[in-house]
Amino acid sequence: MRRAAAFACVGLGCAVPTAPQAISQVSVGGDSPLVAMFVRVGSELGVPPEELAAASWVRTRFRLATTSGSEAGESVGLVGIPAAFVPHAASLAGVTEAAIASDPEASLLAAAALIREGDLRALGGDGVATAVTAALARGVDGRDAGGRHIVIAAQPRSSRPGLGQISQSLDYAGATWAAASTSNYGTGARGIGAIDHIVIHDTEGSFASTVNWFQDPAAKVSAHYVVRSSDGHVDQMVAEKNIAWHDKCFNATTIGIEHEGYAAHPELWYTEPMYEASAKLTSFLADKYGIAKEHGPILGHGEAPDCSDHTDPGPGWNWDHYIELVQAGGAGSYLAGDITVDAPASLASGETGTVTVTVANHGTSAWDLDATRVATAEPADRDSALFVDGDWISPSRATSVDAQTPAGATGTFTFSIRGPDVTEPQAFDEAFQLVEEGSAAFGPAFHVALQVTPAGDNYGGPPLAQGGGCSTTNGSAGGLILVALAGLRRRRRRPR
Ligand SMILES: [Zn+2]
Repeated sequence: MRRAAAFACVGLGCAVPTAPQAISQVSVGGDSPLVAMFVRVGSELGVPPEELAAASWVRTRFRLATTSGSEAGESVGLVGIPAAFVPHAASLAGVTEAAIASDPEASLLAAAALIREGDLRALGGDGVATAVTAALARGVDGRDAGGRHIVIAAQPRSSRPGLGQISQSLDYAGATWAAASTSNYGTGARGIGAIDHIVIHDTEGSFASTVNWFQDPAAKVSAHYVVRSSDGHVDQMVAEKNIAWHDKCFNATTIGIEHEGYAAHPELWYTEPMYEASAKLTSFLADKYGIAKEHGPILGHGEAPDCSDHTDPGPGWNWDHYIELVQAGGAGSYLAGDITVDAPASLASGETGTVTVTVANHGTSAWDLDATRVATAEPADRDSALFVDGDWISPSRATSVDAQTPAGATGTFTFSIRGPDVTEPQAFDEAFQLVEEGSAAFGPAFHVALQVTPAGDNYGGPPLAQGGGCSTTNGSAGGLILVALAGLRRRRRRPR
């Protein structure tokens, strides 16, 4: 490292550092036992571990899929293998079908064998490849069923195959058209006055599985719209004038919207981006068809006067929040304040420490695992000198919120920092800000100020200089750094 490009504080401000060469070498990291399994199975079968891990994240959020009550076609195991492919996958991998459903390693071996034989589409069509590509491009910061960390490093977009062509939806400008099989809905000529309810569903499966299933003539089910959990992307699959088969005997005058996820894990699947995109769609539909923006005319499948036993989207669907968003046209707000940063004040080169940031959610939007992140700031999206490979999502993204954090609650962000290589003591002062990935940066910037000493214990120089003039005051080692809050900011920003 060039020590001339010091992070030392000079005069009234801090010198802008020259970014070190921070590149992710570790494709899958974290303290979950699944990390080693992704690497081992991927290496054994010649499937990139990050691809296997990303497929597991987008399809099951690192959990063994359950198949009961699925509206997406049944899928099995840690990577959500479509039920119809399970026998073939079992024979390819030399494991039993029962093991794919119950044993994480067997289900990974089976999924990797399927991917190796064909490609990601073997798990359920183009949508799987698209979803995995998108997840790899922005990186993943998730948790396994035991709450342990799994990080998939963000990959440069250019290194992955391009995405397919987008077709404009028939009825709603915010959707992409992905036609359901004509065997899965009834044709109609419904217009204003013929539609009086909007039915909210969840898929009990992945977005790609759902789209694939509604395109399968054997399914005999469909919905007008399907909304994706990670980013709120909307596919339209049936024209609104037609009668989608989403609600058994309550289809004739309704529009059905499917939401990717599992009712048992609303904290993983019912994300703010999905709520907001769905509410924007529902608001549009309510305006078009003259439906009151209330819980009643807008209702869950489980509440609908139909003859099925489905209970989706379950008690974890936040109806108060959803209806408020519908009434607001889908617009939430991202605001943050009351930031506390607990960080080491000094580290030796190569030594790591833990930073814990607590932040109050002052907006109306919830913060989500994987989506709401700590990013570098001042300037935005620069590579951080404190980057820890295998712990950070990328050199400009330290972590995501530790758990879903609703409006009014306090979120915690935990990440490691590493003392950069120095040959004499240096002060580092790094600015960070929260971002809703793919959307906006928000809240005030906060700082981690760090004194770094050369590695080894032979340093005998003068006492370390304190960072006079920096915007953050520095406490003793492990001490608390409180950051005064200034005006709230919100800017458009893209991930990198
Ligand atoms: Zn349903």
